[in-house]
Amino acid sequence: MKTKETVLLAVGANLGNKLQNLRNALREIKSCFDLAGVSHAIETKAVLPKNSPAAWNLPYLNIMAVCKTSRAPIETLSAVKMIEEKLGRDANAPRWSPRIIDIDIALYGKQKINTDRLTIPHPELKNRDFWQFLLEEIGCAIPKEIKLDVNNYKALNHFVLYPQFVGIVNVTPDSFSDGGKFLDPEKAERRVRKLLDDGASIIDIGAQSTRPQYIEVSPSEEISRLSPVLERCGNVDNLSIDSYFDEVVKYVLKNPNVKWINDQNSTLNPETIKLIADRNVKLVVMLRGVNFSWIDERIKYLENLGVKKSNLIVDPGIGFGKSKHENIRLIKNLKSLRQRYGCEILLGASRKSFISAHSNATPKNRDLETIATSCFAADAGVDYLRVHNVKNHMRFFVTKRCLENADLLRPGEFHEINDLL
Ligand code: ADP
Ligand code: MG
Repeated sequence: MKTKETVLLAVGANLGNKLQNLRNALREIKSCFDLAGVSHAIETKAVLPKNSPAAWNLPYLNIMAVCKTSRAPIETLSAVKMIEEKLGRDANAPRWSPRIIDIDIALYGKQKINTDRLTIPHPELKNRDFWQFLLEEIGCAIPKEIKLDVNNYKALNHFVLYPQFVGIVNVTPDSFSDGGKFLDPEKAERRVRKLLDDGASIIDIGAQSTRPQYIEVSPSEEISRLSPVLERCGNVDNLSIDSYFDEVVKYVLKNPNVKWINDQNSTLNPETIKLIADRNVKLVVMLRGVNFSWIDERIKYLENLGVKKSNLIVDPGIGFGKSKHENIRLIKNLKSLRQRYGCEILLGASRKSFISAHSNATPKNRDLETIATSCFAADAGVDYLRVHNVKNHMRFFVTKRCLENADLLRPGEFHEINDLL
């Protein structure tokens, strides 16, 4: 069998939801190549020729993907061009203009190619400190002749694509760790935008505190808390609503920006569930107590009402009807949940009271313990972490990724590139 070559793909985006565009690109890359690893994502200023229109000057988000392939270089180029097209890149847009995705071949094994269609190593590699910076992260040696000083390189911002974060905004007077902070719609809106800037994939807005011993507010009260926030967030297209009232869910589903329903009670009636299925939004299914076969039943029930399994997210329900130790055991066993249900898994452990088993920090000061928990959950393959502090999670996971990536490439794999450049 032909041995596979290692290809380094530089993927960039400076239009639309850039983190999501990069995730979509990675998904497609995975379907064409063996994906061995990926750098963290950095935000950089656009590289533009002089006199480019000011509107083109939009910051990029960049990653470097490490792939193995048996495709020849030119077939690799065709594959990445096909991915760009599939993701909606406008092939006729002017060179250097903003794009939702750009996939360039930075390196292809130790090969050197110079044809009309393909130059490898990529001709810009010698000019782009941010590419060299990402190559260094994944352990790829940069040849002396073209090496730039990346020790002092500073990206505008740093992110990871995985795990994904669900930012929490409680439009309530009484939530356990941030009650009252975001009841004012203007403050709630600001919080939504901040969490998205910090790298959240979606924002879960709740208008009812479901902390232990909460006093329930009516559906109409929830709607009156939610509607001004939804209105202010008119151009935010990735919102989740945390509610278990049919009336509230039906109301928010009229809003195209609502992409998830987070139902903590499983009491929605079949009509509402059919509406959720028709709208093709995701539905979070939360387990109360410790009866795990209930989730099997619930998944079947929801599928029978038309909800696609790919739209179901299982939340084991940390803090709901479980002892402190049961919560912790559950977090340890997340991997088995993923295997058992075949659905995406969400962990909502942020600042919750199981932390008080091993920490005396007050609820709003439990982010450090939350991040330690999130680290464990991420290693278990959790898809979504529902957290209050996205910024600090991102800082943690970027560092973790960079350390993990330091020896991603086998030593020597690209050393010979020195002779080629
Ligand atoms: P850019 O990447 O400069 O924004 P495009 O993605 O449209 O622009 O690429 C322009 C052309 O560059 C491609 O059609 C391809 O033929 C050529 N090219 C040459 N070398 C490479 C490479 N190493 N990786 C990707 N494209 C390359
Ligand atoms: Mg390109």
